[in-house]
Amino acid sequence: MSEPEVATPLRERTGHALRDPFLQQALTIATTRFIDLRREAFGDFPDGESLRDRARAIKEATLQRLDHHVERLVASVESRGGHVHYAVTAEEARAIVLDIARRSGARLAVKSKSMATEEIHLNEALATAGVTPVETDLGEYIIQLAHERPSHIIAPAIHKTRGQVAELFERELKRPAAPDPEALTAIAREELRRRFLDADLGITGANFAVAETGTVVLVTNEGNGRMVTSLPRVHVALMGVEKVIPSMSDLMVFLAVLARSATGQKLSVYTSLVSGPRRGGELEGPEEFHLVLLDNGRIAQIAGSLREALACLRCGACLNVCPVYRQIGGHAYGYTYPGPIGILLTAMLNGPRSVKDLAHASSLCGACADACPVRIDIPRMLIELRREVDERRIAPRGERAAFRALARLLVRPAWYRLTARVARVLQAPFVRGRTIRRVPFDLGEWTRTRDLPAVAPRTFQERWAALEREGR
Ligand code: SF4
Repeated sequence: MSEPEVATPLRERTGHALRDPFLQQALTIATTRFIDLRREAFGDFPDGESLRDRARAIKEATLQRLDHHVERLVASVESRGGHVHYAVTAEEARAIVLDIARRSGARLAVKSKSMATEEIHLNEALATAGVTPVETDLGEYIIQLAHERPSHIIAPAIHKTRGQVAELFERELKRPAAPDPEALTAIAREELRRRFLDADLGITGANFAVAETGTVVLVTNEGNGRMVTSLPRVHVALMGVEKVIPSMSDLMVFLAVLARSATGQKLSVYTSLVSGPRRGGELEGPEEFHLVLLDNGRIAQIAGSLREALACLRCGACLNVCPVYRQIGGHAYGYTYPGPIGILLTAMLNGPRSVKDLAHASSLCGACADACPVRIDIPRMLIELRREVDERRIAPRGERAAFRALARLLVRPAWYRLTARVARVLQAPFVRGRTIRRVPFDLGEWTRTRDLPAVAPRTFQERWAALEREGR
């Protein structure tokens, strides 16, 4: 498994997040803005709904013949002078990148934003091997300075207010910083510029890789991606194997829905198409290009219960609309990928045991599925995961026993009627109006944050029987 279990329990992490006023303020401002921008972007886009269907259909068709498309991608990249590596596990992926770094004598690596490199904990591995990794996306740069992990798939520092960033810059960079986004960006740009020029290695993720042309596609809003792919001598792109798409015309479909879903833009500011190393006569580009395809649990899910999650574009729209994410932010999830899709990806990468609590961190309201550009039915898979957690006996014994008892009761009418009668008597000390306010012992966890309707004075069956007796 690629990640250790997180140390503190989910309840503690969420409690901490809910008590943090800065986090609450930052989350509300940022996610509300993202929601508004997305709504406007699709409101002005009559083809939006049909393109979402098309995007999903392409993903499905590609998954059905993934081996074919990957083979085609490998051939295309190699025909352009690039190298392709396949990593079954996170460990293998780290070893491949470290080997490339070692062979190229790299001491400094500049990185563009990449959740796949976060997934395999590449920065820690690089640092241990004597290669200094420098994040160059502004949000990633901020959290690297803060020694934190991303809290959102596309906005890694979404949990920080501008004031907190200014304080961080003053502390870490030892220079005055005003809490103004433009001023803070200028400071980061100045600090990073020389790093681009000094770096031996450029590391990126990939939003897509086009099988027919061997083109790796990076979608960003900052110019750092282009610097990372063109200035260092060696470029390594690491991506989940499911990111392969068949053709350039398919790419157009995804580009049309991706930026609208992520940031409400028609197109991101930079869409970079990287096709192998620099060739004779070209003015820029790396001397060496490596594409690392990462499995890490993905291939097993092609025929698994989380298959739909392989269509994810990592746009982040489901996080912005999720009522749970909007309250607790990304760090409380405890793993690399936060939000509703993050729960599924965590289960994919680490197994269902890792999400025995997280699988319940959803209201199942369906807002995520509505927002998803490829219409992934996240609530359905969360319910599946809850079932799996129960069947594999991962859930706490008391909870399993309670639901087993309830299931038996619901299919035995006589027992059900008897239980209702007994419960009516036992509930008396706890009923206020028509609600049970606080149940004692462990069951009190349920009523701590929810209303539990009291057993009615007369059940439906009792009322029905009475009506029949009265001949109505
Ligand atoms: S599940 Fe859908 S909405 Fe969520 S990040 Fe993936 S593509 Fe975007």
